[in-house]
Amino acid sequence: MKPIYNFSAGPACLPQPAIQGAREAIKDFQGNGISLLEMSHRSTPVVTLFEETTNNLRNLLKIPDNYDVIWLQGGASTQFSMVPMNLLPEGGFADYIDTGSWSAKAIVECKRVGGVNIIGSSKDSLYSYIPKNVKPLDDSSYLHITSNNTIYGTQFKEYPQIYNDKCFLVADMSSDILSQPIDVSKFGLIYAGAQKNMGPAGVTLVIIRSDLVEINHRDIPTMMRYSTHVTKDSMFNTPPVFSVCVVNETLKWIKSIGGLDQMKIINEDKASLLYDEIDRNILFRSPVDKGDRSTMNVPFIFNDNHHKDEKFLTFCEERGLRTLKGHRSVGGFRASIYNAMPVSGVTALIAAMMEFERLYS
Ligand code: PMP
Repeated sequence: MKPIYNFSAGPACLPQPAIQGAREAIKDFQGNGISLLEMSHRSTPVVTLFEETTNNLRNLLKIPDNYDVIWLQGGASTQFSMVPMNLLPEGGFADYIDTGSWSAKAIVECKRVGGVNIIGSSKDSLYSYIPKNVKPLDDSSYLHITSNNTIYGTQFKEYPQIYNDKCFLVADMSSDILSQPIDVSKFGLIYAGAQKNMGPAGVTLVIIRSDLVEINHRDIPTMMRYSTHVTKDSMFNTPPVFSVCVVNETLKWIKSIGGLDQMKIINEDKASLLYDEIDRNILFRSPVDKGDRSTMNVPFIFNDNHHKDEKFLTFCEERGLRTLKGHRSVGGFRASIYNAMPVSGVTALIAAMMEFERLYS
């Protein structure tokens, strides 16, 4: 049977060992005689699973002791609101860099809570680059960035510097978390939905500097407070146990291949293979500035209007290359090549691009 490669932007392909671990957990979790799906979150195996998942994440990302890790629900989209609700003082303002639809959505939610300064934006060129040398304004509480822009295929290669002790960096890392090592100490808060590089949808990771947890600027619902979830070890209410289990299996897989240093090398190799082909092939081009190209989401378009996107998409489908349609706001194609996409998937796509060029250019 021909292999099938899933280039979906999320939910996205997962490592086979994680899917196998999920299968076993559904059948009989760790020899307990019942499925994980029917186990109480207060049971010892599940409490241990959460501890193990958090420890595995801490080890991979080398998270310093003065940071808390929590597993929440509501997707990264809920963090667009939770961040300002918890961390923006009454009458205060925050800085945002607008690098695409997800940052724009985060900005909309912050405006409901307080003031927003958009201190950098690449909207003028359909988000084809990352604004550089952007500095937070005096007195802003935090600077929010989207580290990788899933739709437009741009990625911060260097994070903005914060010079002022009162301000901190907040990052939506939904689409590049665990793709490379990061220095967590440079951030006040990091959040990421699981459904790209970590596991299935349903769980959202938040890494928060401990001194920020207790900030109480306003009376917000209990479920929206970071302190609620930190003090109850992510078990204030019933957590998404199965999703966390799959995240843990994925973390174990990342460790088994050599951790995040190795993951970064693999991701950079895969991405440069694909970008080299896009740059070489006379039919295609990348809409993104070279220095800002994402290692995770690779959009590409036809060089001219002569070819129809549908024709190439069908050509790819016939070769087992699925979900390559670009986001509806940009068109063209997008290959999401997250951690779990094997090199063979990228080389199969490159082979299809070459064959298409041979047949139709
Ligand atoms: N931020 C980024 C960078 C994303 O790619 C996405 C989802 N594709 C979101 C936020 C929204 O995530 P969720 O669907 O988990 O709310």
